[in-house]
Amino acid sequence: MNTEQPSNVDHAEAFASAPQGPQLLRSRRQQLTAATVAISGGIPLMVAAAAIGQAPWTAVLIWAPLCLVMNLLAWAGMKFSWAHRWRDPTLTAPQIAWAIGSTAVCYAMLGPLRGMVLPMVALAIVFAIFALPARTVRWLTWWTLGVYGAVMSTMSWWQPARFPPLEEAIYFGSLLLAVPPMALLAARMSELRARLARQKSELEQALQRIRQTAERDELTGLFNRRRILEELLAVQKRAQRSAAPFAVAMVDIDHFKDINDRHGHAGGDAVLRRFAQIAQDTLRAVDMLGRWGGEEFLIILASEDVAGATVVAERLRLAVSALEVERPDGGRIRLTVSMGLAGWQAGEPADRLIARADQALYRAKAGGRDRVVHD
Ligand code: GH3
Ligand code: MG
Ligand code: MG
Repeated sequence: MNTEQPSNVDHAEAFASAPQGPQLLRSRRQQLTAATVAISGGIPLMVAAAAIGQAPWTAVLIWAPLCLVMNLLAWAGMKFSWAHRWRDPTLTAPQIAWAIGSTAVCYAMLGPLRGMVLPMVALAIVFAIFALPARTVRWLTWWTLGVYGAVMSTMSWWQPARFPPLEEAIYFGSLLLAVPPMALLAARMSELRARLARQKSELEQALQRIRQTAERDELTGLFNRRRILEELLAVQKRAQRSAAPFAVAMVDIDHFKDINDRHGHAGGDAVLRRFAQIAQDTLRAVDMLGRWGGEEFLIILASEDVAGATVVAERLRLAVSALEVERPDGGRIRLTVSMGLAGWQAGEPADRLIARADQALYRAKAGGRDRVVHD
């Protein structure tokens, strides 16, 4: 039976750590494609530096193709999903670590023009801030300072004319000033992301509760009159387009007033709840059930013809007549239902269809109750 029972738990889980799965992959892909393009843009700069004699051609000719190959590999890994079995299939952290290491090598090659790679380091870390958890960004911060510390000290020791130690110390100082605050910023971003995810989940749950109140009957949990009518209009519209037949059944519990009189209002409520349960269990996944009001229910039956719908309705009638509902204060209540069935006729408006089912129900009552009568 199609009840679409809402599940708050599912929604909470789905949104607690958003974005996830394909959505995460898509957003990371966009970020990393941008990063790849930006870092590949450094290659022409390396070549230009060599062309004006500020970088050794041999180093540029080895390093530039290597960078290109790595970028292409990273892009292809995302495009063709090679890395799907990894926890982060976009391999964002290793790629950013590679990009930072790569800028450090360029730094060593570029000599007097080396200052131009520092903005690229900042760029790589900014990407990290948006894409990675704060802890990983902290590691990348240490990695940046470590790699640059090693490159700067090695180069100032090996080629002090091109890399004067004092200048290297100043460059390193500038990294020290810029990079660690970015790790703090990453922590703040992580917090913000977590808060947004939490708020989104809370909003989703609130929306779910509002929807529940607006569309569900409080006592039975079934669709309320408004919702089942909406469903009926939708089914009718679909049927109009595809000529898919369906039927409606108006169900009414027999002598319900007597049940109330004999077993009290609480006993009557228990009967309504139990009927809702048994009807949901008996009907098929394609059928829909709602409380029309009081002890009346409307069923939308997706069936080839009225005969098919009658079989389903009869099955429900028999299941109900076999029921023994437990009264809240002990004791058992037996009940029967009467049903009026009407098959939709092409072009027929919903209210006429319901009126025909109602007339059939009236005949079922007049005929002695506990029966299914079709129009
Ligand atoms: P019939 O076989 O002809 O359908 O007779 P009936 O007694 O079932 O029909 P009637 O319309 O005379 O009585 C319906 C009763 O249902 C009256 C009303 O008090 C009761 N009722 C309506 N809604 C609720 C509800 O939510 N809980 C309970 N316990 N009773 C309700
Ligand atoms: Mg009634
Ligand atoms: Mg009744």
